[in-house]
Amino acid sequence: MSSDLHTHSTISDGILPPAELVHQAAAAGVTYLALTDHDSTEGLAEAQQAAAQHPGLTLIPGIEISTDVEEGEAHILGYLFDVDNTELQATLASFRDDRVGRAMRMVENLGNLGVPVSWERVVEIAGDGAIGRPHIAQALMEAGHVPSIREAFDSYISNDGPAYSGRRKMLPEEAFRLIRQYGGLPVLAHPDETPQVESLLPGWVEAGLAGMEVYYGLYSDDLRARLKSLADEHGLLALGGSDYHGPGRAADCPLGGSGTPPEAGESLLALHATI
Ligand code: AMP
Ligand code: ZN
Ligand code: FE
Ligand code: FE
Repeated sequence: MSSDLHTHSTISDGILPPAELVHQAAAAGVTYLALTDHDSTEGLAEAQQAAAQHPGLTLIPGIEISTDVEEGEAHILGYLFDVDNTELQATLASFRDDRVGRAMRMVENLGNLGVPVSWERVVEIAGDGAIGRPHIAQALMEAGHVPSIREAFDSYISNDGPAYSGRRKMLPEEAFRLIRQYGGLPVLAHPDETPQVESLLPGWVEAGLAGMEVYYGLYSDDLRARLKSLADEHGLLALGGSDYHGPGRAADCPLGGSGTPPEAGESLLALHATI
């Protein structure tokens, strides 16, 4: 039994449709599952329906929002907010719109670098999902320019890659406020990926951060121990998940395989019940 509080479906840049993700999570022994697609909650209805077939699995609504910090990004997970709020949904739709323009710029950059991919194909790969770099990486691989998704990032579209293009993102504090405004709890994703995270945490706790990922993906035991003491020091929930995107994409951790204890999901629900 385990929690998996960080997963992606075809609604953003994951490989599995939401229902399939839920079925596979249940089969993997996940008792608390959060769907946390980038900038979209549109997979939740389908996931909820699928979850109803698995009495041992509790589905937690979530989202992942990318924010800007100096020299990098902080990804903020939001849980248990009012998904149906129309104002919130309009904000998320505008984030997804920004993703389209920014993906077009990266496709243009790739053409200029002599590794062209077709925009039509990128859009086709993204399907219904919020468009993201993994879709461009997949197109680069299909066109034979790189042998793997990872290589596509390393050579072209990582944050300091030659074809990278950014978009205007929120600050972490703004994301905390957005999630809190709609009744949710903000949690810092993969803290080790955020530069200077230790010095940023005190201000973020002040600004409403409720938890951080400790049991993330394939993080080492050493790193988990360090993150756990950091979470304890700041009174933050220690959460985590696989960041599963499907085979070959992003973190290589299997669904349900992050070692996040079942109590993590319980602690999230318990804290939410007090706000
Ligand atoms: P985007 O939201 O378009 O900026 O793309 C970020 C997504 O790309 C992350 O959520 C991961 O799924 C994926 N990603 C980021 N870095 C890498 C990498 N080095 N290798 C494979 N996937 C990555
Ligand atoms: Zn992703
Ligand atoms: Fe992330
Ligand atoms: Fe993620």
